[in-house]
Amino acid sequence: MLRRLRQRHPADPLTHIERVPPRAGVPAPWPSWTPEDLRAAYARRGVTTPWRHQAEAAGLAYDRRHVVVATGTASGKSMAYQLPALATLLADPRATVLYLAPTKALAADQLRAVAALEIEGVRPACYDGDTPRAEREWIRRHSRFVLTNPDMLHHGILPGHAQWSGFLRRLAYVVVDECHVYRGVFGSHVAHVLRRLRRQCARYGRAGGPTFVLASATSGDPAAAAGRLTGLPVAAITEDTSPRAGVTFALWEPPLLPPDPSAAGPEPAGGSDLTQVRRSALRETADLLADTVAAGVRTLAFVRSRRGAEVVATSARRSLDEAVPGLGDRVAAYRAGYLREERRELERALLHGDLLGLASTNALELGVDLIGLDAVVICGYPGTRASLWQQAGRAGRSGQEALAVLVARDDPLDTYLVHHPEAVFGTPVEATVLDPANPYVLGPQLACAAAEAPLTPADLDLFGDGAKEAVEALVEAGALRQRPTGWYWRHRERPAVDLRGEGGAPVCVVEAATGRLLGTVDGGSSHFLLHTGAVYLHQGVSYVVDALDLDDGCALVRPEEPDWSTHARDVTALSVVSVRSYVDAGPVGLFLGEVDVTSQVVSYQRRRIATGEVIDTRPLDLPARELRTAAVWFTLSPESLTAAGVDPADVPGALHAAEHAAIGLLPLVATCDRWDIGGLSTAVHPDTEAPTVFVYDGHPGGAGFAERAYGMAASWLRATRDAIAECGCEAGCPSCVQSPKCGNGNNPLSKPDAIRVLDVVLANLPE
Ligand SMILES: [Zn+2]
Ligand SMILES: [Zn+2]
Repeated sequence: MLRRLRQRHPADPLTHIERVPPRAGVPAPWPSWTPEDLRAAYARRGVTTPWRHQAEAAGLAYDRRHVVVATGTASGKSMAYQLPALATLLADPRATVLYLAPTKALAADQLRAVAALEIEGVRPACYDGDTPRAEREWIRRHSRFVLTNPDMLHHGILPGHAQWSGFLRRLAYVVVDECHVYRGVFGSHVAHVLRRLRRQCARYGRAGGPTFVLASATSGDPAAAAGRLTGLPVAAITEDTSPRAGVTFALWEPPLLPPDPSAAGPEPAGGSDLTQVRRSALRETADLLADTVAAGVRTLAFVRSRRGAEVVATSARRSLDEAVPGLGDRVAAYRAGYLREERRELERALLHGDLLGLASTNALELGVDLIGLDAVVICGYPGTRASLWQQAGRAGRSGQEALAVLVARDDPLDTYLVHHPEAVFGTPVEATVLDPANPYVLGPQLACAAAEAPLTPADLDLFGDGAKEAVEALVEAGALRQRPTGWYWRHRERPAVDLRGEGGAPVCVVEAATGRLLGTVDGGSSHFLLHTGAVYLHQGVSYVVDALDLDDGCALVRPEEPDWSTHARDVTALSVVSVRSYVDAGPVGLFLGEVDVTSQVVSYQRRRIATGEVIDTRPLDLPARELRTAAVWFTLSPESLTAAGVDPADVPGALHAAEHAAIGLLPLVATCDRWDIGGLSTAVHPDTEAPTVFVYDGHPGGAGFAERAYGMAASWLRATRDAIAECGCEAGCPSCVQSPKCGNGNNPLSKPDAIRVLDVVLANLPE
């Protein structure tokens, strides 16, 4: 198959082929404590024996040890918590279990799975925003297995803890499914929601508190991440003992197109006079999908945006119809806007081969049963190795070799990965980063906790580092009152805290014609996503913003599907507030600290969806915004740069190019998106008095990304240097040093000098 796919190209787009061998499963006996009823229930579902990792995780949890099971897609993580939880519910007719999923859809899937086991007296039920009022009281009183999400726990269950006291008093297990999703600022909030849950359980008096069982995609150091999330010591089970089919994994880089200024429209991409870009990953994916479908291979293509998935499906259908009229009907797009039944129907059609190709956005939206396909094409690195393996894991039937292809986008991280297969296949996957000590998360969460019940000195230990300072700040601000018995919330209303929003009040997205509220966007992103003229995607439907009204906090939009996307650009100023930690490495300094960032979104680009071609750049008139956050920065002495052959006139371009690539490569060491972070570089910064490159966290107070970058600086900057040096372009391109969100129009940029800068840093920085 691969040979066929390569023939289309004059230059071989394959950069690497990795053969992932098949693996036989390692079964284990049922734990001795497994009740006969439960064993029989699993047998009815066709499960005769657990795999070893399931039995091990279940055993730890049954012994009341907190445990995280971090294994691959379809490795049966559910059984690891179902087994101890249901066995405990059977043994103790009063015990209860709380299950948390990041999405309602996943909770609904799990409800079906638990209900299908038909264990008497468990009465599993979903309790979320969709649960009718009339059923809620019944669930609180009678269900012993409640499935919900962190938002509902935060907004509903914990503030109403008195109504849940019976349930919380008897709570034996808390299951946290897909826990790798809880990262960054959102993850830091969820960490404190779990601490608030532990506090209420302790208040209602269960000795020792509930046991936490967490399930994660494969991730680096899951025990530490789960420990940070729960605040408890957590054991990790990481060896996947479920059987797996062999997979041939290909890394694929679309070819560079010849420089052609006229192809880029009125303004060349990035403002430089040389426009060199790669063939778009979407086109490449569409061709691969068409080729596999033509060969009768059942293929799932993952595309990052919903509009992109439509483009891939439409383009593949067209080329198939040209070859064999009617063949295009065997390809479809799959998007979130479809009803659940429609999506399940598409999945069934693909599994049975009525449909041969499906272009889809996110793995989380796909049904859990959609596995065992012949091929998976992944358009663009999905951000983490964990998601990459989750997507690739959809391919492979027992006894048959499957194919997975990662198609690189025109982006430094994608380019680095397809040229460094060891970073994809040889490395443990990245760690999930969160920072519960972020004062911008901790303060509001302590306010929520105090509103639920007065805080005591003992609670400060529970909430961890920085809690004492945060409480003092809340007293100072008049939100809490200190009394001999503790700290009391002073207001009648509960504090308004949104787990998923940060950086200012959320902006409402309103359909102008109907007045319908479509959703909200957090204040921090609103200038980027909702400026006048922005194309905004909501549940698979495309809207164009008519006006952003900052005073009213709302954006008026109309449904429209233009064939371009929009990309906002900002300009930034930065000052150093304090230094938390630093490394003095001779001519090079590395710092972690607090900074004030002032940024202003000044313009946006319109780009063709199918090709990425820039149509034009339009100015915007938006106010500047302030952000206090964490940053990592490095400085170099001017002498060391001169000695390395960087002409003083080229220093700004060298630092700027290094900054862009460093931002692009940060997701290699921390689970962040390049849109979560920002940067600034300058030949002499007033606060450092030296040539400096700053990379900062885009969230107030920081989300742990800068801290992680500081700790991993040597490997992060080594990868950055290699990504630039190995890019095949001449003067810099979006695959190495150009950035899609640069406020300076990617000018000045010097690719060769950026390599020299990073060489100086790496030569001096301790590993
Ligand atoms: Zn390049
Ligand atoms: Zn820039």
